[in-house]
Amino acid sequence: MFAWDVQYDDQDRLLNFFWVDGRSRIDYECFGDVLIFYTSYRLNKYNFVCAPFVGVNNHWQNVLFGLAFLLEEAWDEMIKKGNLHNHEWLQDLYKIRRKWSTAFNKDSFCIGILSTQRSEYANNVCHGISKPTSSLTDCFLGLEKILMNWRRNEQDEDYKCSQSEIVPVIKNSSILKQAARFYSRKIYSIFEEEFIKAVGEMSIDFVSTDSSKYIVNYIEKKNQNHPWVVYFDATEGNIQCSCKKYETMGLLCSHCLRVFKQLDMAKFPEKYLLLRWSARARQVFYSGYLLNSQRSNNFQSGRGFIFRNQVSRFAYQMST
Ligand SMILES: [Zn+2]
Repeated sequence: MFAWDVQYDDQDRLLNFFWVDGRSRIDYECFGDVLIFYTSYRLNKYNFVCAPFVGVNNHWQNVLFGLAFLLEEAWDEMIKKGNLHNHEWLQDLYKIRRKWSTAFNKDSFCIGILSTQRSEYANNVCHGISKPTSSLTDCFLGLEKILMNWRRNEQDEDYKCSQSEIVPVIKNSSILKQAARFYSRKIYSIFEEEFIKAVGEMSIDFVSTDSSKYIVNYIEKKNQNHPWVVYFDATEGNIQCSCKKYETMGLLCSHCLRVFKQLDMAKFPEKYLLLRWSARARQVFYSGYLLNSQRSNNFQSGRGFIFRNQVSRFAYQMST
């Protein structure tokens, strides 16, 4: 359901405006494990900062969790006081605020997005809607276009995933077949690249006597690179590499895959197939989301009607 929230100062001037639609809420339920937040663009007409909350779906495409327009000084104040109204969704976002700033540390799950790339994701949204002469109405019309485009692209990719089977580059590789059955096309191609690297470029330089520790390095140019250390617990099927690709991105690295090859494993442990990268991620998450929302009955209350009336009035005031 569409929702918005505003914050005024003590003289009733608009400080912040937050917007989210029903689809964005579902996107957040599905792919909210990583949230990219960045404020870089300014709406010159009102001096508002455009602050999108962007995520990445299972096809490595952008999804929008919400959008805020903030007066810069108000934003600082808001962060200090944590005064984010009683809006449930905003409160949830505020609770995970540390994720916004720490998501880019090496050990945190950040799907491999570097801190320097944050602005690109924000610009994907703001660039199309924030012009010096834009009113808020113009901005939201621009936003609608961007979202239509993003959502159409996702539908296209979902369709392609459902209609065509992935053909692994090495036809009889059981590990690639396992990955092809699970991942979306885009994520599979990233995985396949790691696999080819593992098979073609990596060698094992050392194995501990109990076969729990491996040193992996390039076959060529050994001196130019630091080797990677991989720990494998065969009993539990746990694998860990010093590059931390799985911990940060949710995909196994070429070093772990090289160890699996060394051990002649036909398949890798299922737990390393992360649901958010599955071709069916949205359907699976969405059915869980439906169950939860039916249980809590959050969206059936009369608040929806009141909200819509307020929105209409607010939109009218903003555009006049
Ligand atoms: Zn690694």
